[in-house]
Amino acid sequence: MTLQTAIEVLKKERAPAYRERQLTHAVYAELAESWDEVSALPKALRERLERESPLRTLTEQASQRAEDGTIKLQLRTHDGYPLEAVAMSHGPRRTVCLSSQSGCALACTFCATGRMGLGRNLTPDEISEQLLRLARLLRDEQDAKISNVVMMGMGEPFHNYDNVLSAIRTINSPDAYGLGARQIAISTAGWIPGIDKLGDEPMQVKLALSLHAPDDELRSKLMPVTKRYPISELMQACRRYREKTRRRVFIEYLLLSGVNDSSQQARQLVALLAKGGPGAYHVNLIAYNPTGTEYVAADDAAVRRFRGELEKGAIGTSYRVSRGRGIEAACGQLVMKGIPARKRAAV
Ligand code: SAH
Repeated sequence: MTLQTAIEVLKKERAPAYRERQLTHAVYAELAESWDEVSALPKALRERLERESPLRTLTEQASQRAEDGTIKLQLRTHDGYPLEAVAMSHGPRRTVCLSSQSGCALACTFCATGRMGLGRNLTPDEISEQLLRLARLLRDEQDAKISNVVMMGMGEPFHNYDNVLSAIRTINSPDAYGLGARQIAISTAGWIPGIDKLGDEPMQVKLALSLHAPDDELRSKLMPVTKRYPISELMQACRRYREKTRRRVFIEYLLLSGVNDSSQQARQLVALLAKGGPGAYHVNLIAYNPTGTEYVAADDAAVRRFRGELEKGAIGTSYRVSRGRGIEAACGQLVMKGIPARKRAAV
């Protein structure tokens, strides 16, 4: 749904000016799913809006709920491309994880979405619709509101930069959904042109970089994009971003047993990040969610050791507890089975 097309309908109808405010309120505050629900509008107008600018263009294939409050939605675009969106609860907070693409071209070897190949970029409306749908379910089922948004569903957000930023502007705008920019994070596998562009945006969104390895040799095995953008260049891009924005960068580091979880690798990571100066980076350690690969999650002792080394090196860390595993809603588990891959590894 494009509010813009709905507003054009108003113009064609020569509707009074206050109708525009009613439409905006219906979409972002009432979280209406169809114009028919919006009883403040005359019936004839509702019918025309429903025909010319329906509020939902994605169709729901399935939805799942886990005991920890996680909700996973499997959706499909009007032209048949699958995507997923997830809402997770952390105490009173509700974080929604949105997809930027159907599938992904980057082919990270641990990631289920990476095995799909790329379907296509999602439009700004297809991205914000994921949020509106989850906001509605959270309100109706848990009496809860979204507190955070992360672009960590399917896809590489910086391969779809303009549409992702357009959706985020809608999510952030006080005239639309109105969530604070600091509550919104974009996670990238390390697409440098996107990091540079984000540094020039006036919005205070957070940047997370999925690093997952302290050296190029290992990182290339996990994330083929490293061959295009090696770690040293990534670190320079992060430095440029910090200089422009004065904001710290979040580093995502997935702990894989016997692959990237040794004390020595932790010290290598400290050495890499310490170059940024105090407080330049914060590391989110992530537990690996099984996706049918040969990788195994690091055990508790390895996680503690790794974290200890980072703390000794004065690098701030958190350990992300996995949510929604039982319903395959965790990071990197987003995939639709039986969908043919279109393009692969176009790095
Ligand atoms: N393409 C972007 C955003 C989508 S992936 C990126 O790479 O950052 C979001 C996060 O989930 C990334 O840090 C990614 O590496 C991580 N991830 C992928 N597969 C995972 C898995 N099986 N278990 C845990 N995290 C995973």
